[in-house]
Amino acid sequence: MRFAKSEELFEQSKRRIPGGVNSPVRAYQAVHRHPVFIDRAAGAYICDADGNSYVDYVCSWGPCILGHAHPAVVAAVQEACARGLTYGAPTAGELALAELIYECMPSMEVSRLVSSGTEAVMSAVRAARGFTGRDKIIKFRGCYHGHSDGLLVRAGSGALTQSAPDSMGVPADYTKHTLIAEYNHPETVRELFEKNPGEIAAVVVEPVAANMGVVLPEPGFLEFLRGITKDRGALLIFDEVITGFRLGLGGAQELFGVKPDLTTLGKIIGGGMPVGAYGGRKEIMDLVAPVGPVYQAGTLSGNPVATAAGIATIKILRDTPGLYEKLAAYGGRMAGCVRESLGASVCVNQIGSLLCVFFTGERVTDYESATASDVSAYAHYFNYMLEQGIYLAPSQYEAMFVSAAHGEEEFEKTCAAVKGFAQI
Ligand SMILES: *Cc1c(COP(=O)(O)O)cnc(C)c1O
Repeated sequence: MRFAKSEELFEQSKRRIPGGVNSPVRAYQAVHRHPVFIDRAAGAYICDADGNSYVDYVCSWGPCILGHAHPAVVAAVQEACARGLTYGAPTAGELALAELIYECMPSMEVSRLVSSGTEAVMSAVRAARGFTGRDKIIKFRGCYHGHSDGLLVRAGSGALTQSAPDSMGVPADYTKHTLIAEYNHPETVRELFEKNPGEIAAVVVEPVAANMGVVLPEPGFLEFLRGITKDRGALLIFDEVITGFRLGLGGAQELFGVKPDLTTLGKIIGGGMPVGAYGGRKEIMDLVAPVGPVYQAGTLSGNPVATAAGIATIKILRDTPGLYEKLAAYGGRMAGCVRESLGASVCVNQIGSLLCVFFTGERVTDYESATASDVSAYAHYFNYMLEQGIYLAPSQYEAMFVSAAHGEEEFEKTCAAVKGFAQI
């Protein structure tokens, strides 16, 4: 494979854009090479500036669950564009999307559209604080909730209760209300509630952690969070920006049968356009402006073109029989292929169309075991697969996303490449 155009574009981009990219993980630092620049994508395939074509398992980090440029979604966008790109006024499309979200996820009685997952979680936390009149929140080490100041914390190793920001430019004052617990370790949550009685507004969690690789909740963990938040007068926020419409129409909350107070969505609900949403119980959402005093706004919120893409995507997901079963079957077969080929050197965590190949011999159940992975082994794997025409996330700690456009041919090609990697 030749990468001359990508290399040239990267060199030029670095002069005008920080690191040459508009989101850090795109820079491929973790896999020690320059990024490939993308020119186009269709179905399960993505094509770079040099004309190389790959089976895509990034799917824009989740949104492209139907594959790229699904004809019905593209048609909906084109039709919406022809009626104007933005009005800054309410539309029937926004109502239709809110109704669809409620139909699929009944806990979202009332929801508000925003333009990114970051905004969705930031706003949900604000609503939770407004509702409870409390300031502190609990999040989990290794869970990502966007880059808003108060959520950019995972705490240094060891000091569980310390809340140092992950980023320069975030005053420690902004993160002092963010308490850090360990995913799948209920006792760490209980301890924080004990130490901060009556002060915790909400627990925010990715119900399936998908930003430290993919880590499934242990049986009872989500139920525990539901129970303790309810007992202590705090709210439970499920960040379903990845899992929403990925694990099924009703997201992780339907799959695990645990109903949060508030939910955040993003990625898939925009069908490839920038959309996020937060919502939940009516009595909480009734605090949001203009009904209530919790302020939150957005010039392009509920943008008609983005909303059209979201509606078209969700309708296809809802109306295609067997779609989620097919996605899960592909995910399961892919996990099987990797386990069979790479054996004890990896741990493959998979749920539906979401999976992750950890380069560790141990079971991955939490942040500690996830970060025990051999990231340089992952970098080798990534580079080998790229050369074979398989486009994976350029980091050990990202998920592998399957789309409905992935079929037998793509499976065979990918599995053959994994087997090839096992030979070297
Ligand atoms: C991607 C992601 C976000 C942030 O969404 P953006 O649209 O990138 O701002 C928040 N939460 C989770 C779980 C995510 O995966």
